[in-house]
Amino acid sequence: MSEFLHSRYRALSPYVPGEQPRDRSYIKLNTNESPFPPSDGVLSVINRQAVSDLRLYSDPEALVLKEALASEYGVGRENVFVSNGSDEALYFAFMAFSEDGIAFPDITYGFYRVFADLLHIPAKLVPLREDFTIQPGEYEDIHMAVVIANPNAPTGILLSTDEVERIAASNPEHVIIVDEAYIDFAGTGASCVPLIGKYRNLLVVQTFSKSRSLAGARVGYAIGDEALIRDLETLKFSVNPYNVNRLSMAAAAAAVRDRDYYQETSSWIVENRDFTEQGLRRMGFEVLPSKANFVFARTTRMDGAGLYQGLKERGILIRHFDSERIREYNRITIGSRENMERLLAAIEALLA
Ligand SMILES: *Cc1c(COP(=O)(O)O)cnc(C)c1O
Repeated sequence: MSEFLHSRYRALSPYVPGEQPRDRSYIKLNTNESPFPPSDGVLSVINRQAVSDLRLYSDPEALVLKEALASEYGVGRENVFVSNGSDEALYFAFMAFSEDGIAFPDITYGFYRVFADLLHIPAKLVPLREDFTIQPGEYEDIHMAVVIANPNAPTGILLSTDEVERIAASNPEHVIIVDEAYIDFAGTGASCVPLIGKYRNLLVVQTFSKSRSLAGARVGYAIGDEALIRDLETLKFSVNPYNVNRLSMAAAAAAVRDRDYYQETSSWIVENRDFTEQGLRRMGFEVLPSKANFVFARTTRMDGAGLYQGLKERGILIRHFDSERIREYNRITIGSRENMERLLAAIEALLA
């Protein structure tokens, strides 16, 4: 730390992304990326012309992408905000809507804690139940903003839209942020987007990083009432009007158009998730019921850190969180079938 750093940030502990070691090649099952490449439509828009057009700024109104998303989700263009990864949309939402503090589960996406610290927002951590499900009643009439990852991370457990609706209905004076990064793996009817016309305080955040195979392009979006979106735009135009670059914007719009391809790859991942869960259970693992593109599992035959380390030595990266309540678990991204077979074989060898 330099002596120049503002005292406000001296105690900040930043988000720690999944490791990307370069010492050898790994089977990477630690950051919930897709094993599939982006669709053909995406490949075809990243061409010479698109590169040549990089001399121009990107569209600060993001019209083409907003229109594609609006028609995909049956909302108006004015209900859509686009961001540099959904992390940025979440950051602006924390900044905009947490004047009275923000509540979220004790075990959830690590960035919420970091944003709250960075922005000096009082955070209320609400414990998950023993089985890692959310207690929706704890968020009713809570008198502050709420953020819920749904499905939750790293557990993969889904909360029903009815329960989210009750939380939104009981807190009309505060914004309820639903982070749906993994919603495309959760089956039909799981998303809260259809509720946004009914609740002016509901903001749904999604990403192109997981189901749409564009983690490296950094594109996310939020869908909500027009007034909420305008607030997010005000903040965006006060920080970085060109927050999504031209190539990523074109890639994302093409990905929305290639809906069929991503539906297919997502259902393939769901099938592979079932295969992986069964394989783990056969070896005696306890696997939480996941609706995401990862599983969260533990075994009494080996401690969590030991499994992580043993797999790393065998060239397979998974994610271990050395924190209370979840130390014995590992989060494993669902990759290709071949990689999941190699994972299961490596675990079998480790346990033998
Ligand atoms: C991956 C993830 C995100 C999104 O990340 P971006 O790549 O910034 O879009 C957001 N929330 C959760 C819970 C995630 O796991």
